[in-house]
Amino acid sequence: MINFVIHYHEIALKKGNRRLFVNKLIENIKVACSEYDRRACSDLVAVSVKNLPGRLLLGVGHPSVGCPTPHILAKIPGIANFMEAFQVPADMDSLKEAVWEEIKDKKFKNFRISTKRADKSFPLTSEDVNKELGAWVKEKSGAAVNLEDPKFTVFVEVLRDKIFFGFEKIPGVGGLPAGSSGTAVSLLSGGIDSPVASFMMMKRGCRLVFVHFHSHPYLDRSSQDKVLELMKVLDLFQYNSRLYIVGFGDIQKEIVLKVPEAYRVIVYRRVMVRIANAIAEKERAGAIVTGENLGQVASQTMENISVAEEASKLTIFRPLLGMDKQEIVDMAKKIGTYDISILPDQDCCQLFTPKHPATKSDIKTIEKLESKLDVQKMIADALKSAEIKDY
Ligand code: ATP
Ligand code: MG
Repeated sequence: MINFVIHYHEIALKKGNRRLFVNKLIENIKVACSEYDRRACSDLVAVSVKNLPGRLLLGVGHPSVGCPTPHILAKIPGIANFMEAFQVPADMDSLKEAVWEEIKDKKFKNFRISTKRADKSFPLTSEDVNKELGAWVKEKSGAAVNLEDPKFTVFVEVLRDKIFFGFEKIPGVGGLPAGSSGTAVSLLSGGIDSPVASFMMMKRGCRLVFVHFHSHPYLDRSSQDKVLELMKVLDLFQYNSRLYIVGFGDIQKEIVLKVPEAYRVIVYRRVMVRIANAIAEKERAGAIVTGENLGQVASQTMENISVAEEASKLTIFRPLLGMDKQEIVDMAKKIGTYDISILPDQDCCQLFTPKHPATKSDIKTIEKLESKLDVQKMIADALKSAEIKDY
């Protein structure tokens, strides 16, 4: 059995419904470990998660080859940091013996002890534990104490009836457990922005249902292929994701017949938003997510964003709205979607659209143009023919 002590941060700030958030996190950790196990045919097995004061204790079976748990935990929203931990009874002699047993073969020039006391009934303060254990390690190892820039740290966490210790705190994603804030429908293109937007909302506690629009057979399958790859990366932040793949080419063909070139992109976008709303209703989702970013391209002027918004019954979350492109790119690299996003593709918005679409649309003009379209039928057909892929 390998143990991990898991710390949450934001959840700790919640008062009244903290238990709900903690329970969601526990559930997400269990699902992530067992799903990983199933997909990778690893032998983590026997996952147990215990709710201890201010932290969780995860126990996993001893895998025969390299334990994947740190990779899994590093992606679960709601976790602030985690550490592979050893457990001893709450007394100093047990702690000293056990720490020495674990470090006697390690080489380090200097070190530091960093203690947190969760239970104040323990007779020694954190500072006392640091000093007493520090003196012991110093004597046994011959290494010096270095509080500023230690080569090696022993982290100690004192609880009521037990003490945990370990040597590496690994940062997590932070935020809130996916699903703790509700479900939203995320519009996922093959580009750089929407995967980052999706990640940010999962980190704010949304469970996402994804939708991708493509123009196959008018264009090739490249955008779909990219989205399938992106889904593999994004799914690791929430697991058991669902993707709707919606054919948009015929809808565009009809729009082209009735809407002047300059306004097509905005009408495409409004129809996408309506279809996303219909999917949200089916999935009991309470919001829509897009990767829109103010001023980035013609479809994202203040006017055009507002006109797209008017087509939506649900609130549209746009977590990237105020970010710089470079910030978005950096985050895409960090979460592992960038290399997929930059692969060349044929995006549906390129189909039958001019190089210079209107940057200022107004709702009256657009509604008049749309009155010539059978939008309800478009939505119904899109839903009927959508391909659903469950992860
Ligand atoms: P991205 O980098 O996410 O592709 P973008 O910079 O290309 O965005 P737009 O083309 O204006 O900008 O798209 C804005 C948002 O609309 C996207 O972030 C995405 O949420 C949604 N969207 C655009 N095209 C599609 C599509 N084919 N399928 C699903 N959603 C889309
Ligand atoms: Mg795009």
